[in-house]
Amino acid sequence: MSPVTAPDCLFCRIVAGEVPATMVAENEHAVAFRDLNPQAPVHVLVVPRDHHADVARLAAADPALLAAVVRLAEEVATLEAGGQFRLVFNTGADAGQSVFHTHGHVIGGQRLGWSPA
Ligand code: AMP
Repeated sequence: MSPVTAPDCLFCRIVAGEVPATMVAENEHAVAFRDLNPQAPVHVLVVPRDHHADVARLAAADPALLAAVVRLAEEVATLEAGGQFRLVFNTGADAGQSVFHTHGHVIGGQRLGWSPA
């Protein structure tokens, strides 16, 4: 089945292969690619193939798909960061969300500090 997409959505276009990205892993439900502006040695974005604007909406609409996103995040962390990782879903512009297609930031590869605000 084709994924649910939104017009002019950057991450829908990456999922469709219309915009290039460095893919790290993928499965039937989600894809993982490197962030263009990495904040840590490992910084990978994990996105569902279907378009949902943010993680709260995804959880409400399709909790199994959110679980699949988290499983792919763990797979990426196992491949690249010894299985230890931070998974961040910025939700809303004030929280730093700039792309409104759900994406988890998989961050790791070093001992992480904590200064989210
Ligand atoms: P957020 O600010 O939480 O919405 O995260 C969006 C992330 O997408 C940022 O960390 C950007 O660096 C990243 N980003 C934007 N455009 C691209 C792109 N074409 N390929 C990979 N990462 C991107």
